[in-house]
Amino acid sequence: MANLLPMAPKDLVFRVDANPEPLGDAERQAVLDNPVFGTVFTDHMVDICWSEKGGWHRPRVQPYGPIPLDPAASVLHYGQEIFEGMKAYRHADGSIWTFRPDQNALRLQNSARRMALPELPTDYFLQSLRELVAVDGKWVPEAPETSLYLRPFMFAKEAFLGVRPAKKVAFYVIACPVGPYFGGDVAPVSIWLSTQYTRAGKGGTGAAKTGGNYAASLLAQTEASDNGCQQVLFLDSIEGKYLEELGGMNIVLVRNDNTLVTPLSDTILSGITRDSVLALAEDRGYRVERRAVSIDEWREGYESGEIVEAFACGTAATVVPIGQLKGPDFTIGSADAPAGEVTVSLRQELVDIQYGRVEDRHDWMVRLDS
Ligand SMILES: *Cc1c(COP(=O)(O)O)cnc(C)c1O
Repeated sequence: MANLLPMAPKDLVFRVDANPEPLGDAERQAVLDNPVFGTVFTDHMVDICWSEKGGWHRPRVQPYGPIPLDPAASVLHYGQEIFEGMKAYRHADGSIWTFRPDQNALRLQNSARRMALPELPTDYFLQSLRELVAVDGKWVPEAPETSLYLRPFMFAKEAFLGVRPAKKVAFYVIACPVGPYFGGDVAPVSIWLSTQYTRAGKGGTGAAKTGGNYAASLLAQTEASDNGCQQVLFLDSIEGKYLEELGGMNIVLVRNDNTLVTPLSDTILSGITRDSVLALAEDRGYRVERRAVSIDEWREGYESGEIVEAFACGTAATVVPIGQLKGPDFTIGSADAPAGEVTVSLRQELVDIQYGRVEDRHDWMVRLDS
């Protein structure tokens, strides 16, 4: 049985201003037929205001468009911002579902605490998704491996250049139709090992989903591209020895003794995809180890044949096999290595749950359009 979202509290009535000029049916269909990640957005967006005095107020749905922002808005200067990433999936009967939204709501609250932003109550978060899907449901594509990417985000709106937590904050949700993140089938990716840069330090913001972590990763990501790799892998900032994560995805290694190993650290963003894939693996009888994993352990394990697969995981790309890791003076795997069996089959099971093709035995799916 799928769990339905709790009803919104009585005071949580969204004002809906319909877009007078929505994209035409034919143009929208053209986008849905060939979605390119993060480029075309739906006709509407959700917005809720917060102020120190008034708390969360004025929830509304309005036409998608530019946000009026004072040039002194503190987000533009000090980066007080957090976000989430999730997807709405269309099932075969036309219904629209999302995956573990309660976890995204909780994580947004955790990120808010770390970034000194107000916590958005879970009901508001969930109702925001329902409101957006209610007006823009026709933007959820139908083709296999496509979905409507949902991007909730919150930022410091107060016009004030002093350095302290903002007293005015805005929360928005925007959405865009997406296809497979790395395009096409489940081809293994090449990963660049960054030895010069780290994405997060001890006591820093690595465990919060905040834009600054991404800003910190971009130069290393460019270095990865320059070296023919699609993604970058970061090591810990103290010893430069332990695996952390990719710029926006977690990493998991598969051992030949039915064990999955993934880094545990308070500088890593705790992914819902990783948590879910590891739960599916445990259901199958795999052992899961969440602990520090050194780059030497991976290298030696690869050479001895004990570590047989590696994958990255996150909402946008789901589960991506890692074909090779390129370090400054060594390489693990090869660019044309085939996708690992465990990786491919766990990915398939996750995706089948998300698209409603197999039983959702963990009650992860939540319907958004009713
Ligand atoms: C969002 C994100 C992930 C993946 O989290 P999911 O919940 O699986 O989408 C991993 N690392 C970083 C840095 C992220 O921002």
